[in-house]
Amino acid sequence: MSEPEFDLFVIGAGSAGVRCGRLAAQRGVRVAVAENDAPGGTCVNRGCIPKKLYSYAAHYHEDFEDARGYGWRVGAASFDWPTLKRRRAAEIERLNAVYAGVLEMAGATLLRGQARIVEPGVVELTDAGGTRRHRARRIVIATGAEPAVPPWPGAALAVSSDEMFDLPAFPHRLAVIGGGYIACEFASIFRGLGAEVTQVYRGTHVLRGFDDDVRAFVAAEMAKKGVALHAARRVARLERADAGVLLVLDDGTELQADTVLQAIGRVPRTRGLGLEALGVALDANGAVRVDEGYATNVPGLHAIGDVIDRVQLTPVALAEAMALIDRLYGDGTRQVDYEHVPTAVFTHPNIGTVGLSEADARARYERVRVYRSDFRALKHTLTGRGERTLVKLVVDAASDRVVGLHMVGADAGEIVQGFAVAMRAGATKACFDSTIGIHPTMAEEFVTLREPVMA
Ligand code: NDP
Repeated sequence: MSEPEFDLFVIGAGSAGVRCGRLAAQRGVRVAVAENDAPGGTCVNRGCIPKKLYSYAAHYHEDFEDARGYGWRVGAASFDWPTLKRRRAAEIERLNAVYAGVLEMAGATLLRGQARIVEPGVVELTDAGGTRRHRARRIVIATGAEPAVPPWPGAALAVSSDEMFDLPAFPHRLAVIGGGYIACEFASIFRGLGAEVTQVYRGTHVLRGFDDDVRAFVAAEMAKKGVALHAARRVARLERADAGVLLVLDDGTELQADTVLQAIGRVPRTRGLGLEALGVALDANGAVRVDEGYATNVPGLHAIGDVIDRVQLTPVALAEAMALIDRLYGDGTRQVDYEHVPTAVFTHPNIGTVGLSEADARARYERVRVYRSDFRALKHTLTGRGERTLVKLVVDAASDRVVGLHMVGADAGEIVQGFAVAMRAGATKACFDSTIGIHPTMAEEFVTLREPVMA
């Protein structure tokens, strides 16, 4: 048989696929990356980037109010939804071109179309012009994930995060279902943009998996800003209403909304890829099962990013892509550290966290010391705003290592990123104590926490 056209065929030009394609091409590997949508994947088109832009937009609301406390006379401010959408769309279009350019400049071939693996080493690509087959030594599935579809009646009347960025009309009454990252972020953002927001979740607290103090604290701060939180409630059904949608809860509560956002998790996107016919092993939730080297059970077939559903975060997808390329074409020493994955939730105020929650630390270590402080940030002494900030350290008493670091407050993600390096390097509480603070900042609180809270 003739030489395959490509050494590596990557399906999906999102965070994982583009990084994988670029790094391989830079090593002289003949790479194709296939995509049936705009390059950049969820992160660029319907996720992290537009979300953060909208979060910036939402913060101005309070900034205008806060400026008054500092002597600024601010006239009546108003928000224009079409302007934000248009400016976001232009920026995302620019990024789509950047992503395509990154691949091209590295020497990878970006192919358009819907991919299906017809046999090991053969991908069929279908677009408006027809179907073509490509042969490659190896194939990487990097197709990401998509919003889970809820089971309740009337779910089709609601939207997912995919549609939120481009809603034709601004939702003056928004109901959000879910208590995870996406639900909390959109609730905060649309509240900041001026919507009346109700958030409904089945748990007793938002953000399962996060530290319990963080969960309670952020919910209280979101409520202070006007998000109406309905904990421990399930959805009975959604119905069409005169103006918008009626959301009926299990206790009979009826909520009227212009838009209902459902954000109950994201499922791996594997439909139509031909994986069942190939006998690719999938987990119960549809995630492609891979070994520690991101190889599936089918020789020459690999998978990385949200489609393997280890940690659905862009930087983790990038790290997996780098580890895979190193394994396939480098010395294979690069590994992903899933223990110290820092993460931020762009609620208002933000959450930043790395390492273990207090509960997880107590389950893992015999003795745990906890340090915690909550305070009003200096900025708000003049704004008069009641927003508070939480910082928390969780320490393994035996080794003195800081095993969990958590913050709820302005720019928590920016602050925690730096501390994540220290934690990865094994910083002890004594290291934190001997570090000189930067004054006056919120971050200095992390190095001035002296007394543990009582267990
Ligand atoms: P999450 O897994 O974060 O949260 C899902 C939420 O939906 C939970 O509150 C869960 O409740 C609830 N839920 C699940 N099933 C049902 C159901 N049948 N009925 C009612 N509620 C239900 O998912 P998201 O969709 O918010 O986000 C997906 C992933 O995307 C995140 O986990 C994260 O990895 C990533 N992401 C990261 C961001 C960032 O880095 N800032 C931003 C946005 C997304 P329960 O807890 O009770 O199970």
